[in-house]
Amino acid sequence: MMNMDSTMAKQTQQWVLPTYARLDLNLVKGQGSYVWDESGKPYLDFATGIAVCSLGHCHPALVKALQEQSEQLWHVSNLYHTAPQAELAQLISQKVVGIEGKTFFSNSGAEANEGLIKLARNYGDIKPQLSGANQGQKRHHIITLNESFHGRTNGALAATGQDKIQAGCMPLLSSFSYAKLNDLASVEALVREDTVAVMLEPIQGESGIQPVTAEFLRGVEALCKEHDLLLLLDEVQCGVGRCGEWSAWQAIAPDVVPDAISWAKGLGGGVPIGAFWVNNRDGLSEVLGAGKHGSTYGGNPLVCAVALAVIKTVDSENILANVNACGARIRDEISRWNSPKIKQVRGLGLMIGIELNPQINVVEAVKELMQAGLLTVMAGNNTMRLLPPLNLSEIELQEALDKLKCFF
Ligand SMILES: *Cc1c(COP(=O)(O)O)cnc(C)c1O
Repeated sequence: MMNMDSTMAKQTQQWVLPTYARLDLNLVKGQGSYVWDESGKPYLDFATGIAVCSLGHCHPALVKALQEQSEQLWHVSNLYHTAPQAELAQLISQKVVGIEGKTFFSNSGAEANEGLIKLARNYGDIKPQLSGANQGQKRHHIITLNESFHGRTNGALAATGQDKIQAGCMPLLSSFSYAKLNDLASVEALVREDTVAVMLEPIQGESGIQPVTAEFLRGVEALCKEHDLLLLLDEVQCGVGRCGEWSAWQAIAPDVVPDAISWAKGLGGGVPIGAFWVNNRDGLSEVLGAGKHGSTYGGNPLVCAVALAVIKTVDSENILANVNACGARIRDEISRWNSPKIKQVRGLGLMIGIELNPQINVVEAVKELMQAGLLTVMAGNNTMRLLPPLNLSEIELQEALDKLKCFF
């Protein structure tokens, strides 16, 4: 099992920047809910590349879409129209969000959030401060949450309310403040004359699977309406079916109407794609007009064809129902064990966090389960994340529960 001296690990150590503390696992193949290491040992994959491989590995519908598109047209830039991008944007509005709007395509989650930040700043240009000493001046202040995670680019890390993510990157992009999760008064207290948006994850992923409450989300929405702030949702990890609805906020407070939403991870099922959608209301989706934003690769036919296959498969195979059924079973079962190692089980759908008691170190727990053939992901707050494929089968679910029970 010690693979550290394998060629793969040695090469990585010598030639790849050491920004990740990698686990001692050399993966060579994936199929369905399993991946295999160099020695041929299988692992049930409840990490899915951090909530990316939403339909498992090499799903036939995704392989087919990629193969067909790869023989048709790979890339032409956004100077032209291409069918996969146009169709994907339509499906995002009509199916994933269910509200009329327009979508911009990027290559990652951080980039999608950069787009949200630019949308907010451009909105603040058009709709300046209405009163106060700086009346008429541009609004640019954005409220986000403590322990949030919005990505590693300079704008996205300024939006991220975690010192450890920002360390070494000073000075940050200015004008972000961080409120407390599920504490509406703490958001309200940060609203200033120059505030233009509130940005949050419906379920915080990196900080240990922390959902917003419906009351909080509705309260933030009302606050946004009152002060003409944009409500920006980061669904990069929790979106596109992961929480049992097309969008995570719909699983929490479906009556809330967001102004813009970002995605990446599960949207592409493994190909690098990000996106953000902007509500058509009051001309909002025209704020970033021609020349205001761009991406050379963003939304190219190759990745859009695969993302289309992801959405169509989730739809046609009734996968949201599977997410809800499997998620409830996993959470119920684990809670029933009353394990002294477990502090709390949290989450929605198949975005599940097991917060461990302090005597258990999450890194060690993840390693031990890996040895046992189950991949999980560590998160903040001593929490282990379970992020299985959304099309998880009954047998695989039982195998995972058996392995988890053995550990817990
Ligand atoms: C992963 C993640 C990001 C960053 O996405 P990248 O594709 O790594 O840039 C942003 N927001 C949330 C909520 C995430 O989980």
